[in-house]
Amino acid sequence: MKISASYIATLLVVMVLMNTYPLLESQNLAFQSKSAALLGSASAINTALSGLDELTEENVAQAVGNMDTRNISRAIVTDPYGKVLFDTREAGNASGRYVFYNELVEALRGNQAMYSAYKEGAFHSSAAQPVLFRNQIIGGIYVYEYDKQQASMLENMGNTLITISVGITALVLMLSMFFSRQIAQRLGNLQTAIRGVREGAYNQRAVLAGHDEFTQIAGEFNELVDRLQETESARRQFVSDASHELKTPLAAIRLLTDSILQNANMDSETAREFLSDIGNEAERLSRITEDLLRLTRLDSGVVEEAGLVEVEPVLDRVVRMLRPVADEKDVELRISCGCGVLVAATEGELHQVLYNLAENAIKYNRRGGYVHIGVDPDEETTRITVEDNGIGIPEEDLRNVFKRFYRVDKARSRAAGGTGLGLSIVSDTVSRRGGVIRAENLEEGGVRFAVTLPCVKREEAEEL
Ligand code: ADP
Repeated sequence: MKISASYIATLLVVMVLMNTYPLLESQNLAFQSKSAALLGSASAINTALSGLDELTEENVAQAVGNMDTRNISRAIVTDPYGKVLFDTREAGNASGRYVFYNELVEALRGNQAMYSAYKEGAFHSSAAQPVLFRNQIIGGIYVYEYDKQQASMLENMGNTLITISVGITALVLMLSMFFSRQIAQRLGNLQTAIRGVREGAYNQRAVLAGHDEFTQIAGEFNELVDRLQETESARRQFVSDASHELKTPLAAIRLLTDSILQNANMDSETAREFLSDIGNEAERLSRITEDLLRLTRLDSGVVEEAGLVEVEPVLDRVVRMLRPVADEKDVELRISCGCGVLVAATEGELHQVLYNLAENAIKYNRRGGYVHIGVDPDEETTRITVEDNGIGIPEEDLRNVFKRFYRVDKARSRAAGGTGLGLSIVSDTVSRRGGVIRAENLEEGGVRFAVTLPCVKREEAEEL
């Protein structure tokens, strides 16, 4: 409606201009030409009267009587007081009477005057001039023209303009209605799709037709819904996986408590064993919930401001914490870390990344194996590698290990106390800090995880 209304308003303005301006302009031109012609006629009469020192009915009739005045409707000559001495009109001849037409009065005051107007389908034009003898006003000339022909031409032009305007208006109205309806229809389609998606129908898409801005908007909307659908299905998958993960230890806890409760004669040693299992399951639950919370925090997009963290002390702490585990599994820890390397992250994040990767490398290793952690600063990045010569990851699983709850060997991961969330936390953290993580199998067996993070060298950091 608004688009149509603006079309129509514009159209009306154009039509009003088209119907008034040319008509007014032609009327003006007609007035000008008429005034000039009438003044010409008055001057001709004036010339005929020149030389007379006084005007009388006789000498005026003698001088003007034979002149051709067919091109004007009426010519009057008066004495200086407005008394008519000569009148070309036969019916209603004013000879002997006083006339006071505005133009004539002006002429008798010594000025030339003209007037032209369009009234009731005709042009009424008049002009008047004083008759002078030695700069004395001895009379006045008044000429008048009534023209219907030119007026009717103008009228025809006006009618033609109106017909054209009506035609154009009808055409533009029809076209504007057609286009507005089309626009409204396409907007309506888009709106239906938007409403559908708002109500949760993520499979709804906007129809793409044509190659205009509407199609572009519809295309972008569809892409947006694609992303939304992906996110939504990832969310559902995540919730279902998380519930599943939580269900397993909970079921185990229930089973164990039921066994204790139902078996009144259970010896205390078995009961302690069961209770210790319950404790382990509870610990697993708390690990899962901690990891879930970490991921939720990462997902929420709230980014703590990155500081400059020195890698070496954080790595030392991680190694200290993991050494007993490594010793227990007879895994050797080799560290090579250039000192003074800084990365742009928080200390907690760096600790999380190093700890998870190193812990995995120990967990999925074999007896007598090794874990090598290297930190190499480059020009603008720091490369942290964690490699082991453990069991490795089958090639087809390599790109999936960063997915949430993905485990190559479920039983082994569970037995080792894994939640399946460690690597996705690492990868989310790294990418949030503008870094990249890659996993590759080594020829001699084992895996190498390589993290590249934006780095700052100590000298530069001090300058900052
Ligand atoms: P989990 O808690 O199970 O360790 P992660 O997300 O840390 O979960 O790792 C996902 C899976 O990737 C693990 O279950 C394991 O199968 C595999 N994986 C991770 N690191 C290694 C590694 N260094 N060597 C072999 N397999 C690994």
